[in-house]
Order: sequence, then structure tokens, then C-alpha cells
Amino acid sequence: MTMQSTAVLANPFEIAQAQLDTAAAKLGLDPAVHAVLREPLRELHVSLPVKMDDGSVKVFKGFRVQYNDARGPNKGGIRFHPDETIETVKALAAWMTWKTAVVDIPLGGGKGGVICNPKEMSDGELERLSRAYIQQVGRIIGPDKDVPAPDVYTTPQIMAWMMDEFSKITGYNSPGVITGKPLSIGGSEGRGDATARGGAYCTREAAKHLNIDLTKATVAIQGFGNAGQFAATLFASLLGSKIVAVSDTKGGIYSENGIDPEAIVKHKLSTGSVVGFPGTRPISNVDILELAVDVLVPAALENVITEDNAANIKAKIVCELANGPTTPEADAILYKNDVFVIPDFLANAGGVTVSYYEWVQNVTNFYWEEDDVYAKLDKKMTKAFNDVLVMSLDYKVDMRIAAYMVSVQRVAEAMKLRGWV
Ligand code: NAD
Repeated sequence: MTMQSTAVLANPFEIAQAQLDTAAAKLGLDPAVHAVLREPLRELHVSLPVKMDDGSVKVFKGFRVQYNDARGPNKGGIRFHPDETIETVKALAAWMTWKTAVVDIPLGGGKGGVICNPKEMSDGELERLSRAYIQQVGRIIGPDKDVPAPDVYTTPQIMAWMMDEFSKITGYNSPGVITGKPLSIGGSEGRGDATARGGAYCTREAAKHLNIDLTKATVAIQGFGNAGQFAATLFASLLGSKIVAVSDTKGGIYSENGIDPEAIVKHKLSTGSVVGFPGTRPISNVDILELAVDVLVPAALENVITEDNAANIKAKIVCELANGPTTPEADAILYKNDVFVIPDFLANAGGVTVSYYEWVQNVTNFYWEEDDVYAKLDKKMTKAFNDVLVMSLDYKVDMRIAAYMVSVQRVAEAMKLRGWV
């Protein structure tokens, strides 16, 4: 099979394949296993006719990719986005396969998407589109087959409509078909901050390994949405660290004395941005990455740490809550400079882990307290982090390659045991 260099690739699925190739080479993976893992097992393309508010009918294109379910039902979000492509959905489905494997939850990897612009659609149109998606994709999903979740521009309300449509098709209430639902119809306690909380647990473990006292540590966070806001509050409350800088699309703020996370959340809620928070000075979204802090948390976009700025990163730990914030070229520079990177599909796996807990609660119809969710998440993330760390030290590879190796090995073992290869 063709091995590709990530340096020349723009197609996200080709990048995902190239990352797999690197791990496969290090592991000496059986070529048949490697060949199966380079492609999704199944992809469904659907056409969705939807009655619009003006009486016309518009036909939307949608996808569901089931990448690999050797370890359990496929799991992965559904995106509603005007630029959605099958290549992106395939890449995201592959990454979900590695993410569920690295935290060792009994699920595979999937992803879905619809090409649409939800910002230009009414609630009624969105509901009809969500139901149309399930009418088509419903035949290949289900609590024991494939369990979707929210992703870019899909919400708990959309999950509620989709769950309802699936339940109508099956003829019984089926909350376990989808996660990320509102609490009152089978959502889980602790899902809101799960992604940032998982990242905080990983950072705690990284600090133990590196002998860093997090109660004396400074933290900079790029991006102040779901992941970034909860990171700010949890890195302060759980780890005792000082948040010195945060940013959003409008710019960043810095204070060497530290910024009260709860107060910035309120400021962002009332003004729409973190910018202008009293007692801070402005900092650009480029400079925030290069601050002399102990922990840097990219929690916004992909490709923000590149070969152009990687040498200027001064943080000792980079906790990647965003998906794909670091390019492969930058990875090599960070590793050489002893910057400890907690790679995205490990650092941000808290979200899918609590989604798994939601599914477990749905299928057993027994609901857990928030503290139970946190305790189970802590145990899972701590184990996952340490599995990857051991692989990284054993093979003398960076944490990203090590995370791939742990995951690929687990999926490969499941395929072998089932007799697929
Ligand atoms: P979000 O839309 O809630 O927030 C994104 C934030 O990034 C916003 O504050 C926005 O202002 C900021 N932002 C956008 N462009 C920016 C720029 N150029 N510079 C600085 N800030 C910028 O999204 P989210 O759910 O917090 O997701 C953030 C990242 O975390 C994404 O990469 C996402 O894939 C990843 N992630 C999120 C979850 C989750 O559970 N929310 C789970 C896994 C991964």
C-alpha cells in the first residue's frame, strides 16, 4: 500500500491515512490489518428532500461513515455544515475510531454530515431536515449498531428530534440511539464540561510525569467556546493553576497576576468577547501561543501551531483540546524542543467518554449522579494517558504517534480475534 508524507497533503482523509501509516510502520502491523484500517468499512450517501418554509422542496446531501466497529458499535457526531465533504467525514470517522480505542471504551468510530447552512434555516426547516436524515440513515444506526452525537452546528435539540424520529421508526422509545441529548430525555450529567475535564485530568498526569507543580503553573488558552471556557474554570478549580491569558475570534487578553475565569465567562456572556476585560492588556491570537507559560491549551481551530511558530512555543505542556491544532512539521519541532504535547484525540476524549456513559445509562435505564460520572471519567482518562505515556517511552516516539500505536494495536487485536483478517 502507498505510504504518504503528511507534509504535502491537504485532504483530511489522506492526512488520517498517513498518520495511520506512521503508526503501522512503527508497530510492524500485519499488511492485511493495515489495508482494512486505511478505509472505512461502510459509507452511506443519502439525498434528503425537505419542505422549506416558502413551500419549495430542497434536496440536501448527507453522509454517514462507519469506519470500524471491531471493538463495538460505531460512535461519532453529525455535522451540519455548508462545506461538508465526504473526505472530511471519512477522516473524522477514522479519528473517532482511534479516540474510542485510546480511552478503551467498547465502541468503534463513525461520523455523519449534511451539506447545509443551519444559520440560514428556520427551526421548522432544521427539524424536518433532522428527521429526513434519520429516515434515510435510520436503517444503519441504532443503539447496538452506530450511535451518533452532536458536532459542528448540531445541538441537543437536533439530537432530541433525531432520537424521536428513530423511536417512531422502531415503535419504541430508543434514547440509546444518540447521545448529547437534553438531560430531561436521557442526557447524562457531566457531559457539558467533559471535554475540558478530560484534558485537565491528562494535564495533571503529564505534570506528575514532568515534575511540574501545577499549583504554581500559569496557563494560556486559545479559544473561549465550550472547550476553552470550561478549561479556564477547571484548570483553576481542579488543578489550582493561574489562568494568565485567554482569547477568542476578536482577540486575546493577558494579565501576569491571573484572570478570574468565572468573571471572564460573565464578561464574554455580556459583551460577546473576552476582549476589554478590566485589569488585562490585549494580546493577539498569534502571541498568545508564544507566551512563557507552563501550559498552553489550544481550544479553537486546527493548524495554529505550524513550522513557522513551533520553535517559539515556550510552554512545557500543550494540551490539545482542539482537533488538529498542530501540523506534523510542528510536531517534530516540539518533540525536539522537549515540549510535551497531549495529542488531540487523547486530550479531548473526555467528551466521547461521557457520551459512552450516556449510552450506558440509556440502555440500562439507570441514571448516575454527577460525581459518579466525574470519578469514572477520571479513572478512564488517567489510564488512557498512562497507556500512551508508556508506549511513548518504550518506543521513544512522541505522544501523538504513541496514541496512534495504542489505538491501532487495540483495533487490530479486535479484528484478529473476530477472524476478520
Ligand atoms: P466553540 O464553537 O464552542 O468555540 C470555539 C471558540 O474558538 C470560540 O470562542 C471562538 O471565538 C474561538 N475562535 C474561533 N476562531 C478563533 C481564532 N482564530 N483565534 C482564537 N479563537 C478563535 O467550539 P468548541 O466546542 O469549544 O470546540 C473547540 C475545539 O475543540 C474544536 O477544535 C473542536 O473540534 C474541539 N473539540 C470540542 C469538543 C466539545 O465537546 N466541545 C470535543 C472534542 C473536540
